[in-house]
Amino acid sequence: MVTLQEWLEEIDARARTRLGTGRVADYIPALAEQKADRFGIAVCTNEGDIYTAGEAQEPFSIQSIAKVFLLTLALRVQGDALWERVGLNPSGMPFNSLAQLEAERGKPRNPFINAGAIAVADRLVSAYATPSKHLRDVARTLSGNASIRIDARVRESEWRHRARNAAMAYLMKAFGNIDNDVDQVLDAYFSCCALAMSCVDLARALNYLAADGHARAIGAPFIAPDLARKINSLLFTCGMYDAAGDFAYRVGLPAKSGVGGGIVAIVPGRLSVCAWSPALDDSGNSVAAQYALELIAETLGHTQAPGGGLAARPRQHAP
Ligand code: GLU
Repeated sequence: MVTLQEWLEEIDARARTRLGTGRVADYIPALAEQKADRFGIAVCTNEGDIYTAGEAQEPFSIQSIAKVFLLTLALRVQGDALWERVGLNPSGMPFNSLAQLEAERGKPRNPFINAGAIAVADRLVSAYATPSKHLRDVARTLSGNASIRIDARVRESEWRHRARNAAMAYLMKAFGNIDNDVDQVLDAYFSCCALAMSCVDLARALNYLAADGHARAIGAPFIAPDLARKINSLLFTCGMYDAAGDFAYRVGLPAKSGVGGGIVAIVPGRLSVCAWSPALDDSGNSVAAQYALELIAETLGHTQAPGGGLAARPRQHAP
C-alpha cells in the first residue's frame, strides 16, 4: 500500500509528463505571461488534513473558480429566488456566448457561464456595499489564509479587455436581468475572478462542499447540507465549460475549472482537491490538472480509508 502523500507525489510526476500540451490563456496579457511548466495539487480531507505535491502553495488566478464562491454567497442571500434570474442547465455553448443569451431573453443558462456569474454578481452588488471585498474575506476565512488578495493587475487587464463580458451584461440589463450599474457589476465580477489563491487555499476554502456545507475553519455550517448537494450537482453538470460531459465520464466528480489553470473537484463526504497547471485544452480546462484528477478519481474507486479520508492504494493497481 502507498500513502496518500506518496500517491500525490506519483500523480505529480505523471501529470508533469503532460506539461507542454495545451496553451496558456491569452485573452488578457496578465494571464498570457503565466509559466506553462507549473503543476501543483492539494487534497483537503474532511478531517482537515492537507496533503500536497508540486507547486501547491503558489498563488494563481482563480478566474472562473470564483463563480463557485459567487453562487454560494448569492444563494445564502437570496435562496431559490436566484433561479428566477439564472438557469440550471448546461449551456452546450462556449462560456462567453452571446447568441444563447439573446435567444433566451437575457436569462443565462447556468451560474457557471460568464453571463450567469455576472447575473449572480449583480445580486451580490445589491446585497453588499463592497461585494468583492466581502467575497475575498470569505475566501480568507474559509481557507485560513489572511494574505489572499485580489490581483490588481489581473483585474485591470480584465477591465481593459471587457468588451464581450460588458456586451453580455448590457444585454441582460436590456432584458431587465441586471438591477445595478453595469460597470459596478463588472468590477465586482472581475475582482472576484482576479483573486489569487493556491491549490491549498482552494482545497481548504471549498471543502464545505465535501463536508455537507460544514466549514471547518469557522467550526460551523457555512451552508445547509441540502444546498451543498445542489451546488455539487450543478458543478457536475455545468462546472467544466462545455466539456462537462467528457469530464463527468472520465472523472465523475463535481468540479469547477478556471482559465488560470486551476480545477477544484469535490468528493462528497470525503475530501476536496485542487490541481493547477496553466496550459489549457481547447475547452479551456487545464490539461495536466484534468489528468491529475482522473488519477485521483481512479484511486478513489479502489480505496476507502478509515475516517472517510483517502489513505492508500494498492500499488499493483497502478496503471
Ligand atoms: N474572468 C474570465 C472572463 O470573464 C473568466 C474566464 C474563466 O475562467 O472562464 O472571461
